[in-house]
Amino acid sequence: MKTVFGPVSSWRFGRSVGVDPLCRNACSFDCIYCQVGPTLDKTIQNDVFISTDRIKEDLKRILPGVSADIVTISGYGEPTLAENLDEIIEAVKEVTDLPVAILTNSSTLSLGKMRRILNEIDVVVAKLDAPDESLFEEINRPVKGLHFGNILKWIKKFKSSFNGRLELQTMFIEKNKDYAGELAKIAAEIQPDSVYINTPLRHSLEGPLSESQMSEIEGYFEGLNVSSVYNSKKYRSYKEMLKRRSIEG
Ligand code: SF4
Repeated sequence: MKTVFGPVSSWRFGRSVGVDPLCRNACSFDCIYCQVGPTLDKTIQNDVFISTDRIKEDLKRILPGVSADIVTISGYGEPTLAENLDEIIEAVKEVTDLPVAILTNSSTLSLGKMRRILNEIDVVVAKLDAPDESLFEEINRPVKGLHFGNILKWIKKFKSSFNGRLELQTMFIEKNKDYAGELAKIAAEIQPDSVYINTPLRHSLEGPLSESQMSEIEGYFEGLNVSSVYNSKKYRSYKEMLKRRSIEG
């Protein structure tokens, strides 16, 4: 079981050391394109999946020896389900001064406790694949009780109070490709620091869109800081971007 892995080259982040606080396929969604496969444990319940001590040990063993640009909390499921996420973030910060990012499906942003925990992170990448409830149900297949409108409301509220970078991530597949205009409109309302448009290029039950389809989709996001998986030439230096942000206030 690997709680800390990499660094791996990420089209978004450059050389990224991954931290997996779950090490199992537990998620509040069961996205039809999920590259991990169908969700085995579909839940919104918090739990301590891996002890903080175990993660801390692995961080201390691996992090000091690697050259990386960022630490990304992600893995095989939804990382905000980890009840000890706050301790894990603290442990990362004890071991390194690299920026810390998290990839979340946005389903727990409605929880005040979670928003406070995420406030300790430099970069939050929030998933938004659908512009309405029915497509949300069809693509993300959430646990009962999660609704598109509520998730969107809390992404917007979180953006307005968060001091770090809020980035949006949208996976485009056959089912939502014709809704790029609506998704871009919603993204413009949120005003994220960046938008990543992706399509499943790695193993997935859903095939990827072509380069020209993604380029057409990218056009809808004009005016936003958008990057597509097909034309991510280089990673941005998060250290530089975060430094610039603190200078600009
Ligand atoms: S949110 Fe992420 S981990 Fe969960 S099912 Fe969707 S793609 Fe997979």
